[in-house]
Amino acid sequence: MRIPFAYRCTQCGRAYARDEVTYLCPVCATGYKPGMPLPGVLRVEFDYDAIRARLQGKAIDWTLWSAVEAKYFPPYAVGNTPFTRIDRFAALAGFTNVFVKNDGLNPSGSLKDRASFLVAAEANRIGAKTIVAASTGNAASSLAAICAAAGLDAVIFVPASAPRAKLVQMILHGARVIPVNGTYDDAFRLSLQYSEKRGGMNRNTAYHPLTIEGKKTVGFEIFQQNAGVIPDVILVPVGDGVIISGVYKAFYDLRESGLIEKLPRLVAVQAETSDAIHRFIATGVYRNADQPTTIADSISVSAPSNASMARQAVLDSGGFSITVSDEEILRGQRSLAETTGIFAEPAAAAVAAALLRLSGDARLHAKEQIVLLITGHGLKDVGAAMTQVKIPEAVEPVLERVEEVVGLK
Ligand SMILES: *Cc1c(COP(=O)(O)O)cnc(C)c1O
Ligand SMILES: [Zn+2]
Repeated sequence: MRIPFAYRCTQCGRAYARDEVTYLCPVCATGYKPGMPLPGVLRVEFDYDAIRARLQGKAIDWTLWSAVEAKYFPPYAVGNTPFTRIDRFAALAGFTNVFVKNDGLNPSGSLKDRASFLVAAEANRIGAKTIVAASTGNAASSLAAICAAAGLDAVIFVPASAPRAKLVQMILHGARVIPVNGTYDDAFRLSLQYSEKRGGMNRNTAYHPLTIEGKKTVGFEIFQQNAGVIPDVILVPVGDGVIISGVYKAFYDLRESGLIEKLPRLVAVQAETSDAIHRFIATGVYRNADQPTTIADSISVSAPSNASMARQAVLDSGGFSITVSDEEILRGQRSLAETTGIFAEPAAAAVAAALLRLSGDARLHAKEQIVLLITGHGLKDVGAAMTQVKIPEAVEPVLERVEEVVGLK
């Protein structure tokens, strides 16, 4: 039986019943205009006493913390991605106990599958046939794939500059794709205007509260795969701030349910030019990022939709935030690839870059258990990595030529 939950406004604290609201807190969202972080983002608050009672003396049933019943889940296998110790990379950065959670190995190649999966389940539950979304690329390719599996229609707004592979994915899976001559923030605004006028369920990140709930399953898996031990630190790439809020929510749910006491420290990693959440955490003052020009397209955003919740997640966990340059991201991508066999897209590689930067930093201890959350696969954006590799010139198919090239003669 499902555990009851309410939607709680993270701004004013009002609670709403499950089918009373769909997106933001109706009271706090009245002054919302696209181009600013979302006001009144809703958090799913379970009846934690009921969960505690159900856990008494029993093995953990992970569906207790699911906001949508399993019977509505689309036929699409999300999650259960590898959790692996990476000693060779750790040594480069001067740490001894580093793991990766490789969510680039989700079916569509990014962690976004977790959010799209739960939103599609919710669409099934309420009988919505169309899901509308704005995306830098991964949320859309993921939504398109899951809608294909579920038999739903996807309408997608993306910056025309999104990496080709992501565009190919969403079109191949049969979504209605509208490339926008503009930024991700422009696509976000358009998609809201579109769904308000033309209908359809809107999957925009944080705007639909179940995107946060969907993403939290990565936190549950880290806890399970780490044998029920809470890692000391988790590094998370941050754009809109929903993944990090989802990771936080996983450990929040476990704490409220009496299963753990302390939270892992969450480190928010942003790109230097897309640093609105970083500055908000560091200074307490919010301002949009002026020109988010980073190569890490998945974390390129001017007005992060979930800025407040992300800041709260970092502060409440005792973590901190950091930014890395595009040059560091590309170097981190290469180092990770060379020492772990993992090809991460630039946004995901930002956490590798951050760990290299944090070598010797007093905020991390050399022997702590540190988890790098790899959020997207490198094959989604081969163009970015091409700047780091030189493909050797072809040789005539004769052994003598090969020996010349490899320097044996
Ligand atoms: C979306 C995304 C992020 C950032 O997630 P937010 O919820 O926007 O902070 C990071 N990495 C990849 C690969 C993504 O697709
Ligand atoms: Zn409110």
